[in-house]
Amino acid sequence: MAELKVKRRVLSACGTNCYYVYKEGASDIVVIDPGDNGETVYEDVKTLGFDKVAGILLTHGHGDHTGGALKLKELSGAKIYAHEEEAEILKDPQKNLSGWFGPAYGFEADEYLHDRQEFDMAGIHFQVIHTPGHTKGGCCFYDAEDGYLFCGDTIFNCSVGRTDFYSGSASKLLNSIREKIMTLPDDTRLYSGHGEKTTVGYEKKYNLLLCLQSDFLSFYAKRFYRFTAGSILS
Ligand SMILES: [Zn+2]
Ligand SMILES: [Zn+2]
Repeated sequence: MAELKVKRRVLSACGTNCYYVYKEGASDIVVIDPGDNGETVYEDVKTLGFDKVAGILLTHGHGDHTGGALKLKELSGAKIYAHEEEAEILKDPQKNLSGWFGPAYGFEADEYLHDRQEFDMAGIHFQVIHTPGHTKGGCCFYDAEDGYLFCGDTIFNCSVGRTDFYSGSASKLLNSIREKIMTLPDDTRLYSGHGEKTTVGYEKKYNLLLCLQSDFLSFYAKRFYRFTAGSILS
């Protein structure tokens, strides 16, 4: 079985991670969260040697993750996928915060996914894991076979997602992380929406925020939230 490859570009003023995910030798590639720049993402896809984008997966609706989605769809012809409970946020410029990053917009995904839905894309088998808390329809994309979880703004390396935006909930966020992410094998690689990659085992050991009660977390999460800067393909 071909090895899974993951490349990253950091985009937007928030330092949002866009991931390029593919199997070695495959003819198409999956883009997870195209940041705020569809042109750059499409150029990267070609630089990586691909003509075809199999799908554009969105972990949630915030503008720093989705601003490039429509342009990338136009350039590549690929469909946009998101969790069904995120539709309200995608469509509403106030709720998706798009105005913070450029002209405000709202849009629909082409296909809405539900919790535990499984699908194959570019030769990769994904499972959708609904992880509300940062937003109500936030989700992770899990490749159990290779041990990779693309987890958006739910959990970061030694931090967790903010819960002070529309539909955010510290108690739901902690439940999602504890019950749906920390229960995965310890060697599962976590690729977050911001910052460096980590693993389930590392976060179990070192992520102090996971020990907090949710009311403490809603106070502290905002302060611990970390951004990285720059625009690099690595
Ligand atoms: Zn977000
Ligand atoms: Zn984000």
